[in-house]
Amino acid sequence: MKIVMKFGGSLLASKGGIRRVAKIVATRAKEDKVVAVVSALGNVTDHLLSAARDSKHWKEDQINRFVDGLRDVHNRALQDAGVSRTSEDSAKAEALFEKLSVTLLGVSLLRELTPRSTDFILSFGERLSAPIVAGALRAEGMQARALTGGEAGIITNDSHGEALPIEQVARRTARKRLDNLVSKGIVPVVMGFVAESENGDLTTLGRGGSDFTATLLGTYWRADEVWIWTDVDGIMTTDPRVVPGARGVRELSYAEAEEMAIFGAKNMHPLALGPVRLSKIPVRIKNGFNPDSPGTLIWSGQKKSVDVIKSIALVEDVCMLTVSGETLSGRTGTAASIFRSLADSGVNILMISQSVSESNISIVVRRGMLDKARRALLRGLAQLGKSARLDVESEVAAVAAVGAGMKGTPGVAAKVFSAVSRAGVNVRMIAQGSSELNISFVVGAKDAVKAVRALHSALIARAG
Ligand code: ADP
Ligand code: ASP
Ligand code: MG
Repeated sequence: MKIVMKFGGSLLASKGGIRRVAKIVATRAKEDKVVAVVSALGNVTDHLLSAARDSKHWKEDQINRFVDGLRDVHNRALQDAGVSRTSEDSAKAEALFEKLSVTLLGVSLLRELTPRSTDFILSFGERLSAPIVAGALRAEGMQARALTGGEAGIITNDSHGEALPIEQVARRTARKRLDNLVSKGIVPVVMGFVAESENGDLTTLGRGGSDFTATLLGTYWRADEVWIWTDVDGIMTTDPRVVPGARGVRELSYAEAEEMAIFGAKNMHPLALGPVRLSKIPVRIKNGFNPDSPGTLIWSGQKKSVDVIKSIALVEDVCMLTVSGETLSGRTGTAASIFRSLADSGVNILMISQSVSESNISIVVRRGMLDKARRALLRGLAQLGKSARLDVESEVAAVAAVGAGMKGTPGVAAKVFSAVSRAGVNVRMIAQGSSELNISFVVGAKDAVKAVRALHSALIARAG
């Protein structure tokens, strides 16, 4: 069997995590052909992102302190993994730290951070972690080679921060490079998230993008399965940090899992399921701390489930914008012009709802998009008549209940909203996708956890 295995940052950064990963790969590689994809060590990408932003105002000693801290984190991981670096490996790692220092210094001197330099800075997380994992695989007696995303064939457009693969080039390159190594008995350890544009610049696939790297490589290399190793038992009925009684979901269809990912169930990049859904490659989400547990299988052959709702996602970093006014009613093209102005400004919409009277349209976007969305909507308001108004609520959260079983099952919405209202939570906006795979709604930020717990105990905990 050919398997692409992706290892998440939280697993890699845990005590003994890298050894654990090496053992998982070694066990599998005895019988199967394995390509490994690795994230940066947990939190490193967050720290790199803050450093990139802060370095506009940093002095040289602050940059040095940051890079020294990063060096310590990776040296500790190296020690914990029992990997001793060759002098060549040490020199390569040192060259990376040097390059990062120089780049941050450049940002601080110019006081300018472009999307392209952000990608370059973010790439260091995976560029530092993959050689450590490759070293740990060698310590387990395997042959292994760390590859950048570009070397593995992830060639993208130059849309920095959310680059997309250039399908044909990427497929051809990836298949050749991976086959070439695997046929010699070498395990490729590919840096997830980081890719390369056609003219050789580093790009990234968006936060959490190592999942996407894994499913892209799975498709290009024609893997039989993609396994995403993380720190919990697969996709769970809800975030276990919010509801300690959450349990693993055994099976999901691609559409259900995609819905979860888009709604921000942390454990999957929103675009990751696209490639495998098209090529029908099953994906398993597995727990690195509990490798024998089955985890979640995402595929097209899942049995009909007794659970109408399989999982509840909570998205906390959102805000709601409402355009209202009598002049909106009955006018054709109002919604189109609102959505066009948002799309033209590059704002991604998470939820939409329109009142029956058509006098208001509410839109939910990630909080990071608020300024862009507000500006775009204010520009468009003028054309909507004098009475048109924009209201923004930023202290809100979105909750989505996902499950294919709600399709054609009457009364699901009633159960959802009576559970929420019994908990004393006021619902500010409701939306249901036409696919009927989810019911989503907005509540005040302070009520979000209460709403998720109420829903979980009314609709999921019992079904198990
Ligand atoms: P990784 O480091 O493996 O990429 P992530 O940080 O992307 O992992 O996501 C893993 C975390 O996502 C889990 O530890 C869990 O707390 C959180 N999470 C949120 N919602 C869910 C869910 N429905 N199922 C599983 N995990 C979830
Ligand atoms: N390291 C990247 C991030 O934190 C990619 C990933 O972990 O999947 O977003
Ligand atoms: Mg992730």
